[in-house]
Order: sequence, then structure tokens, then C-alpha cells
Amino acid sequence: MSDCIFCKIVNGDIPCDKIYENENVIAFKDIQPQAPVHVLVIPKEHIESLNDIDENLDIIKDIHLAINKIVKEYNIDRDGYRVVNNCGKQGGQTVNHLHYHVLGGRNLNWPPG
Ligand code: AMP
Ligand code: ZN
Repeated sequence: MSDCIFCKIVNGDIPCDKIYENENVIAFKDIQPQAPVHVLVIPKEHIESLNDIDENLDIIKDIHLAINKIVKEYNIDRDGYRVVNNCGKQGGQTVNHLHYHVLGGRNLNWPPG
């Protein structure tokens, strides 16, 4: 999608601090990190939000396998981490391309604000 910032990252039109990539997924550091580890994991395909997962459900598996690798690479798998998907306006989604936040490296409060 031409005016989507995350599609531009996928296409290499805007830079990112990429930390992982495979055929279907890329992961990069969040530009405004909320924790010592704050990575975004996104499908390469433009999917607007979790609401748009249907027969393309396989991408959720790919994203979770990528998260599994990333948390091990950052050594946060043992201490723990949080995976967040913000969906829609009240969910706090600001970029309309499906993405999962992976947060770790500090104690994370619950419930979130
Ligand atoms: P959300 O509010 O769940 O839609 O999350 C969007 C996230 O994308 C925010 O945490 C932003 O800091 C992050 N973000 C926006 N633009 C960029 C970018 N160019 N590179 C990395 N992260 C970005
Ligand atoms: Zn997109």
C-alpha cells in the first residue's frame, strides 16, 4: 500500500533498524522505544489490523515463530517479555499495518494505561 509507512519500510523506501527478516515477516526496532527491548514484528504483506486476519491466518504463526527467535536473541525469554497488538482506534493503533510490539528488559506494569 503506497501511503503506508510500514509498507515503505518493507520495500526499503524508508530506513529501519532491522533485526530479523524471513520470507513473510520483518522485525525492526521501534523508533520510540518504551522498554530496553522494543521491537515491532510485521507481515511483509499489507494487512490493516487483526480484524483482517481470516484465511491468511498463517501469518500469525509466522509472526509468533519470529517473536520466539527474537526474544531468545535478546536473552529476554527467561526473564519474560510482553507481546502487544493494538487494534483499532480505542486499542491505540496508530499505524494501520498489522504489527506486534515485543517489549522486554524491564518490569512491565499491568494493567496497562
Ligand atoms: P501502534 O500505536 O500500536 O500502532 O504502534 C505503532 C508504533 O510504530 C509506535 O510504537 C511507533 O513508535 C512506531 N513507529 C512509527 N514509525 C516508525 C518507524 N519509521 N520506525 C520504527 N517504528 C515506528
Ligand atoms: Zn502497509
